[in-house]
Amino acid sequence: MTEIFVGGEWRQGRGPVLTSINPADGSVNAEFAGASAEDVADAVTRGHEAMNDPAWRDLRPHERARILTRIADGLESEIEAISILQTRDTGKTRGETTALAASAAGTFRYMAAALETLEDELTPPRGDYMTMSVHEPLGVIGAITPWNSPIASDAQKAAPALAAGNAVVLKPAEWTPLVSLKFARICETAGLPAGLLSVLPGQGRIAGDAIVRHPLVRKVSFTGGTRTGRHLATVAGEKLMPITLELGGKSPTVVFADSDIEHAINGVLFGIFSSSGQSCIAGSRLFIERGIYDEFLGRLVARARQLRVGPGEDPATQVAPLVHFDHRASVERYVDLAREEGGRILCGGARPDGTAHADGAYYLPTIIDGLANASRTCQEEIFGPVLVALPFDDEDDLVAQANDSVYGLACGLWSRDYQKVWRLARRIAAGTVWINTYKQFSISTPFGGFKDSGLGREKGRHGIRQYMQQKSLYWGLNEAPLPWAMPR
Ligand code: NAD
Repeated sequence: MTEIFVGGEWRQGRGPVLTSINPADGSVNAEFAGASAEDVADAVTRGHEAMNDPAWRDLRPHERARILTRIADGLESEIEAISILQTRDTGKTRGETTALAASAAGTFRYMAAALETLEDELTPPRGDYMTMSVHEPLGVIGAITPWNSPIASDAQKAAPALAAGNAVVLKPAEWTPLVSLKFARICETAGLPAGLLSVLPGQGRIAGDAIVRHPLVRKVSFTGGTRTGRHLATVAGEKLMPITLELGGKSPTVVFADSDIEHAINGVLFGIFSSSGQSCIAGSRLFIERGIYDEFLGRLVARARQLRVGPGEDPATQVAPLVHFDHRASVERYVDLAREEGGRILCGGARPDGTAHADGAYYLPTIIDGLANASRTCQEEIFGPVLVALPFDDEDDLVAQANDSVYGLACGLWSRDYQKVWRLARRIAAGTVWINTYKQFSISTPFGGFKDSGLGREKGRHGIRQYMQQKSLYWGLNEAPLPWAMPR
């Protein structure tokens, strides 16, 4: 029976049962009791004790960095095992899960290095005293992650939060609990003191809710859907607790007539169909300059039809199954909606034929056009292998359409005109703009969304500061009585 990691102790959860399935064939990977609200309370109490224990609290940055580096080493040495497990849990291709595991290791290594270089400040005094601004941990951090890239999003939150000296209570998503438990084992083996990390797979409304509301949890870092994020922000507001939100998207990808067309086709396909479209930053709204609309779309559709749909274990697979059968049903409902709204399904729009795919949660790469930008299909996040194509006339038309969205997570621009690209990159309301590339990520570069796509930024050196609070120190430099106390 799979155990959960509560305050440094492996034990049976006391919450509702979770089931992890392999979406490539529907087989059950694991079934076990998830975390209850009581498990959360134990984990938070233990985390609070552990972070205030001098054995952790008094570590100097380079000593804490050493532990983070050992976690990076542990992740690196287990990349293959993590990849196999994560492919089973999420359906993703082995290529992608290998990259995600490597990126988690890179995140810990980067945060260890960044931690050693962070400096406090000596600020200019305005009297006979010295002033300093120092940074301290916040408290226990609640990290709540979605199912689409577990190990990478776990590391993206845990590494900077631990670097800052906090304890972390991590809750992975219901459908994909296994790799986060493996992450807990790796941290334990690397010598992270007990209690500093708990991994509590469980239901959002039970374990997640208990984390966010616990008084000793002093910050939540959340990645997931906008609706959930908005709700958590209200709970955080009541507690006057900071919250970082990495939320949904409906990102525009823009192809100009002057782009390298072949390069753009590859980029557009990768931007939407890698991860089977289950990516917050998926380039799911394609804007094509009107003069090349039909030609570009024709070539794109022909290429999309050739993409290889199959199990994540097969090295030839480009589009793996969706994470869960329920999620495929949600994608199918959106394609039905697109039909009702008058969309033309240019390719896909169905499950693949044949017995090889019969048992898995597969869905064909789908391209739709003929819809207005205001349609629900063009405005709502589908989170699957579904691309909508729209024409645009000029820069102003493009900016108006691209920015006509509640989301503002990412954007891709394909053009050889660097001046035009510069103008547009600054006019598009998005947290990340890729120019002649897409879905590239670097831990050193801050990430986050505009508008309903989020609040706050993760990654980068200052990512550690997001998990700290500032304290001001005033040092008196002489013994003269303060003015008010002077004898009259
Ligand atoms: P979700 O919002 O349903 O769940 C995310 C996490 O929140 C899960 O762990 C879930 O159990 C938990 N949760 C749900 N209700 C909760 C509650 N009331 N209290 C506390 N926790 C609760 O999202 P999902 O379906 O797992 O993931 C898909 C979404 O995540 C998409 O919208 C996608 O765009 C977004 N996402 C965003 C980013 C980003 O960096 N911006 C990255 C990946 C995914």
